[in-house]
Amino acid sequence: MAYYAQPAAANYHTPPMQQQRQRGYRICDTCGTTETPSVKFRLCGGCMTTQYCSQDCQKTHWPSHKAICQHTAAQVSKATTATPYGGEELAKTLRKFTSAHTSLLGWAGFQALQLKRVPANVRQNALLLELSYHNHVESHRRFSIAASHIVPRTYIRDPLVISDIQRREERCRHSGGIGTLVVILQCGGVSQVMPVEVDPPSKISWDEREDWATVLNHFIESGRTDFKPISTTARG
Ligand SMILES: [Zn+2]
Ligand SMILES: [Zn+2]
Repeated sequence: MAYYAQPAAANYHTPPMQQQRQRGYRICDTCGTTETPSVKFRLCGGCMTTQYCSQDCQKTHWPSHKAICQHTAAQVSKATTATPYGGEELAKTLRKFTSAHTSLLGWAGFQALQLKRVPANVRQNALLLELSYHNHVESHRRFSIAASHIVPRTYIRDPLVISDIQRREERCRHSGGIGTLVVILQCGGVSQVMPVEVDPPSKISWDEREDWATVLNHFIESGRTDFKPISTTARG
């Protein structure tokens, strides 16, 4: 855990780190192990949203993950949007984008829902980000934030997505967390739901930031994937 003399939202003013890509804090979807710098997790190639500590855990999870995974991948073909690639390509790019900015998006959702002060918001609301598409060479720079809204959780209608969130929610609360934060990314007819399991408030050291939207835009616009939330209190 790093300490900073000047509290700030994030590593906003520091030059971007080259090469090293920040992946954030991940939990194995099967066994709950936390990712460490020495053991890099594998991402499910189908949906690019679930992660595993090992091939064994991925295999074990497949029978129960298969439905939501294929659903996430297939949803896209229904989508129609004016991009040079069409819906399927757009959805794939959106998954890559979400994956590259996971820690930033999770932090933004945490701030937007004010979870440090009002943890119960995690069950009521979700952060909806409307994106606009750009034809950039790098997938993590193909979108910018057009608008952000706090929407009720009932905004999500898809039963498979709802049950996947429910499953994560139960697991998270079982291990002492407050629940699953939902960030929805939407571009044209394509959307992606990003669930983030949140620690109890006593364990969260992130500072509250009202300027989260500015920070979010800054990192997205400059194509930086090295976002690190800054804490001025130690993690419990
Ligand atoms: Zn595992
Ligand atoms: Zn998957």
